[in-house]
Amino acid sequence: MKILVTGGAGYIGSITAAELVQAGHEVIVFDNLYQGHTAAVPPEATFVEGDLADPRAVQQLFAAHPGIDGIMHFASYTLVGESMQQPLKYLRDNLVNAANLLEQAIAHDVRRFILSSTANLFDDPERMPIDEAERIVPGSPYGESKFFIERVLHWFERLYGLRYACLRYFNACGDTPDRGEDHDPETHLIPLVLQVALDQRPHITVFGDDYPTPDGTCVRDYIHVVDLAQAHILAMEALDRLGSRTYNLGNGEGFSVLEVIQTARRVTGHPIPHVIGPRRPGDPAVLIASSETIRCELGWQPRYPSLEDIMRSAWDWHRQHPHGYGGR
Ligand code: UDP
Repeated sequence: MKILVTGGAGYIGSITAAELVQAGHEVIVFDNLYQGHTAAVPPEATFVEGDLADPRAVQQLFAAHPGIDGIMHFASYTLVGESMQQPLKYLRDNLVNAANLLEQAIAHDVRRFILSSTANLFDDPERMPIDEAERIVPGSPYGESKFFIERVLHWFERLYGLRYACLRYFNACGDTPDRGEDHDPETHLIPLVLQVALDQRPHITVFGDDYPTPDGTCVRDYIHVVDLAQAHILAMEALDRLGSRTYNLGNGEGFSVLEVIQTARRVTGHPIPHVIGPRRPGDPAVLIASSETIRCELGWQPRYPSLEDIMRSAWDWHRQHPHGYGGR
């Protein structure tokens, strides 16, 4: 298939683009390089630099690349904490950018769409692990913005026959030998912990130790980025057969912030000092996914279920790329 990957120069987008290339698909990457890196784009992919906020650029993209079979939409503002400070960057921009993309998709007869959605839809879960029947309570303007887009997809299915999959992923992490996590500023736990192991930071700050969890720190479900990428490909390939779908995606096991730091100490051999700080607004105490539905329907199986292996893959990349892709 010919697949358009928005945000394909970013962390999850570029690794998915590389997996798509490896699976024999033709890939077009569209990215404004706000957080992305040209070096992350697979050389086999066609790279178009542009911004979804610019409707003309999006129109030109589709005009220049006829015959797109499907879209994987990664390009987005993605930070829970930032969205609590700058809500319209999320509630407005994430929605408008997706709308610009969808408008041109329909105009150019593209009817397959995979959305990278989020576990931040589940701020107050009634059951753990969280399955797809859980009620939606967005935990932040970021989560709300993804829910807006899920609703747009729902209406585009009814009105235009779009087939879509919403992949609500939990904590994406881990790297591949060629591509890794490099954000500026970095806010995610695992790369920050590894920066301490590289002596680039004196310590890691734990955001709150007074949550109702066994050690008081937040519990999250960490899923390897390659496993996420594989889920995107399976979902795209199954759309014609199964129709629109929503899947929760995680490993099904929770680790506290302190357990993540402890795992990093084992893998890196570095003491990784930590200090306890205040809670980060917008963080729920526990988020663990049930991925039973995608396992049953698509046969998805994580290749990297162990946190230790995930951490090792991240450590390998960060050691080889101590300044990320560089040249920002
Ligand atoms: N976290 C932390 N210190 C940091 C960064 C993150 O304690 O410097 C915690 C955060 O509160 C959350 C978990 O680590 O409970 C994972 O956060 P991350 O930002 O990596 O992913 P998110 O859960 O926001 O998707």
